[in-house]
Amino acid sequence: MIELRTPAEIEAMRPAGRFVAEVLATLRDETKVGTNLLALDRRAHEMIRRAGAQSCYIDYHPSFGASPFGKVLCTSVNDAVLHGLPFDYALRDGDLVSLDFAAAVDGWVADSAVSFVVGTARDEDLSLIDTTQRALAAAIDAAHAGNRVGDISAAVAAVARADGYLINTDFGGHGVGRTMHGDPHVPNDGKAGRGYPLRAGLVLALEPWFLATTDELITDPDGWTLRSADGSRGAHSEHTVAITEDGPVVLTDRGFLGVD
Ligand code: MG
Repeated sequence: MIELRTPAEIEAMRPAGRFVAEVLATLRDETKVGTNLLALDRRAHEMIRRAGAQSCYIDYHPSFGASPFGKVLCTSVNDAVLHGLPFDYALRDGDLVSLDFAAAVDGWVADSAVSFVVGTARDEDLSLIDTTQRALAAAIDAAHAGNRVGDISAAVAAVARADGYLINTDFGGHGVGRTMHGDPHVPNDGKAGRGYPLRAGLVLALEPWFLATTDELITDPDGWTLRSADGSRGAHSEHTVAITEDGPVVLTDRGFLGVD
């Protein structure tokens, strides 16, 4: 079921968006060569406790999950791109890290993800990250009342294709509200002018993610982490965006913290 939020409800979602933005900005700033993925999860958990927020991940147990997730942060490194279950791993020079974080504040959820390289970056990794960021910007630009879900999908896909990346449509954007995952699904490829009509009050997590040389995923033995089938690296950019009469509002924007 697709739910539309009133302007007052969208205002009430802002603290969740700000909190998620702060957590990702903090974690990104503190992630260095040598940082352990379990330490990042503990840091996120500490910020959740201090803020009186609720994790959307720790008890998350969908049909495809082997067991409840048990952590509060997704840490996907190199060939892992989505749902990375934190494990005892110290980041190495040149690792491509994707952090995906969702939490509820005052009963409203925000969901966001960021990719970056620790230490010395390879040009191809920076290009891949840049493409996901530009695809996200294109998705946000298309998130206007009067457009349709397919306009967002087509905008994302056009950026990916222009840069030579393949697109997997199994996992994509989604409605966000009282829970992390709601309707509609927003695939990262689709036809402009098709699909559910976008209306003011719709709040969506938009999340382009691409792999360097494949569109196929395999599930890690941990039952959660999704990796590229060919070992190539992946990147992921996500924001929670409210469609309003005045255009899209990026609830998880990190700009107020002076970071992108
Ligand atoms: Mg997310």
